[in-house]
Amino acid sequence: MQVVLDYLKRNQARFVAELCAFLRFPSVSAQAQHKRDMLACAEWLAEHCHHIGLDARVCPTHGHPIVLAKTPRTRSLRKPHFMVYGHYDVQPPEPLDLWKSPPFAPRIHGRSLFARGACDNKGQHFAHLKAVEAYLKTRTALPCDLTFVIEGEEEVGSANLAKFLKSHRRELVCDAVVVSDTGMPDVDHPALTYSLRGIISFEITVHGPSRDLHSGIFGGALDNPAMALCQLLASLRDKNGRVAIPGFYNGAAPLSAYERRQFKRLPITPAELQKLIGVKKLFGERGFTPMEQRSARPTFEINGLTSGYQGTGGKTIVPAWARAKITCRLVPNQKPARIRKIVCDHLRKICPPTVRLVIEDGHGTEAYLVSPKSPQAQAALRALRKAFNREPVLLREGGSIPIVNDFKKVLGADTLLLGLGLPEDNAHSPNEKFDLDCFENGQRMSALLWQELSRSV
Ligand SMILES: [Zn+2]
Repeated sequence: MQVVLDYLKRNQARFVAELCAFLRFPSVSAQAQHKRDMLACAEWLAEHCHHIGLDARVCPTHGHPIVLAKTPRTRSLRKPHFMVYGHYDVQPPEPLDLWKSPPFAPRIHGRSLFARGACDNKGQHFAHLKAVEAYLKTRTALPCDLTFVIEGEEEVGSANLAKFLKSHRRELVCDAVVVSDTGMPDVDHPALTYSLRGIISFEITVHGPSRDLHSGIFGGALDNPAMALCQLLASLRDKNGRVAIPGFYNGAAPLSAYERRQFKRLPITPAELQKLIGVKKLFGERGFTPMEQRSARPTFEINGLTSGYQGTGGKTIVPAWARAKITCRLVPNQKPARIRKIVCDHLRKICPPTVRLVIEDGHGTEAYLVSPKSPQAQAALRALRKAFNREPVLLREGGSIPIVNDFKKVLGADTLLLGLGLPEDNAHSPNEKFDLDCFENGQRMSALLWQELSRSV
């Protein structure tokens, strides 16, 4: 094993140069003018995988291609099989004038490598590729088979991934999926993310009069849709910050004492959080810390609120309608379809007869949880501890990563989220960067992970 770690140490300069070559492709999946860059990037990646000793191919989809790469298989003995998922597509770099150097001309300053896609996600999955290269080039036997699935549509919703997983199910079925596309709180706190929140979204419209009306001539004799909507929405949260919809919390997975102890170890205080988000005072569900509220508790949020006249000056009307865009974040055991039904039923029940309510359904995704005490999670924590030489933290992520549910449904595998990104890496923002220490530690973590994980199967 030491020979693998030595190889990684010796080759850092070359690895960084190779990552820079990868970052020079403007692989922006959302922009049609980059279709050829996407293909060129996928082909470069497959060629690179081939060069380090993997069997690699570019698989076309209805959208951008997927790069599939595998360690050479030894038929004689059955080894554990793990899949590494990543994405070579990147977010649009605009607005360009806010970049200190061009987004597709990688620049190194200190231990930071600046480029669009450096952190999200090229640098992160490249760390895993370098770890497997170290095994293959030093002829060190891998304790497992590995398959890399690097897609090109993550930033535009992964529309073709589930289909790809289904059609390649036989070669992709595995013992666990490893994804490095989340974050760690800071360089001293490597992290395993073991839970994600789910989501449901919808749009509610309250209709009043058949047209905007003169508020002087008619106002007072009819319900105001904006007011009706505000009253409706305001009744959905009580003064303790709890969602006031009967049944909303039924079955929601509670936090264990172990998890709550883990939350306490996170290197951010409520005061720091308050400063970071720029609010006068924090607010959340009573009985939970802000860190628990933002990742382990369900929410009901208004994302947008529109009604009446929005231009300059005034306009004396009773608006014809009012609309709100809503999302609920869900925790494990809250089924999206059930929550959607109880929210909609409740809204219809409390809507006054003076207005007409229309609810339009949006997307939904289930929450995700892999027990932090499971053998695989514990194996990942050991690899993190050894690679970073620090005690790792356990994270619950407040956001949603829908593909993780597909891995479970289609491949039957849990996902270990071992993110190498830092909060200040500017993912999706101008001046995105990747920390080269995270890159190097990530390679070591990956190399150690295959040993630890294989023992856990
Ligand atoms: Zn992203």
